[in-house]
Amino acid sequence: MDVKSQLPTPFTFSQSSLQDYADCPRRFQLRYIEQLSWPAIETEPVVENERRQLEGQLFHRLVQQHLLGLPAEKLSRLANTPDLQRWWQNYLAADLGIGDYARFTELALSCPVGKHRLLAKYDLAAIKDGKAIIFDWKTYAKRPRNEWLSARWQTRVYRSLLTVAGAHLNGGQPIVPEKIEMVYWFADYPNDPARFPYDAKQFKRDWSAIEKMVSEISSAKKFELTEDEKMCRFCTYRSYCDRGRQAGQIEDSEAEMEAEELFDVNFEQIGEIAF
Ligand code: SF4
Repeated sequence: MDVKSQLPTPFTFSQSSLQDYADCPRRFQLRYIEQLSWPAIETEPVVENERRQLEGQLFHRLVQQHLLGLPAEKLSRLANTPDLQRWWQNYLAADLGIGDYARFTELALSCPVGKHRLLAKYDLAAIKDGKAIIFDWKTYAKRPRNEWLSARWQTRVYRSLLTVAGAHLNGGQPIVPEKIEMVYWFADYPNDPARFPYDAKQFKRDWSAIEKMVSEISSAKKFELTEDEKMCRFCTYRSYCDRGRQAGQIEDSEAEMEAEELFDVNFEQIGEIAF
């Protein structure tokens, strides 16, 4: 089968597509340029993992509705599985420390990068007096290491894009990196969030890495298969690339996170909660 190699212009990059390219250039090509649907089981055991992913999406929706002002009592009825009940109770009991912050849920920010665009959707950005806290809800069974989270493209894209494109949330003034913090809040580890402060040096490094990667992808003629075959464990294109037919087992939190990102949560496809 012929595979296209030309990136459409403009192309909208996200933390997921940048992470895909970093993990495997061929996956980026198949998914975003070729837009190849290739049905394959991404993780084993299938039913258990699909259930957990769907519960994770519903948890995001419950928290979003709560932050938009719907009463907890009404929403609590919808937390109707053991996982959801536990996550929801943990969330309601948590003090996120943003009582008097302006809250922006399911916020989409974007800005140009070269001839293309960069887009990020935030679970929550809380803003007060020029300070911004980015929250991302995670429902992993195990808590990933901070070092691993810190290197993810999500952590780099979310903080830097808020610096570049967040002024309208802050009375028209850019939010300086030193006033930005990103928090991964784990529904099963409510007392152990991962917090990532920011500064101008990190911002400079992140933004130039984003520009460099966008430029590299734009001019790429060839998208090689990754040499790190671990990346193929949960990849939907395993059989296409002849990298094994059997889906991988999730054996640690970082594998779980990688698998979940490949599941590609699409909030637009989740129906509104009916009361
Ligand atoms: S199966 Fe492996 S080589 Fe093929 S696209 Fe996926 S990660 Fe890349």
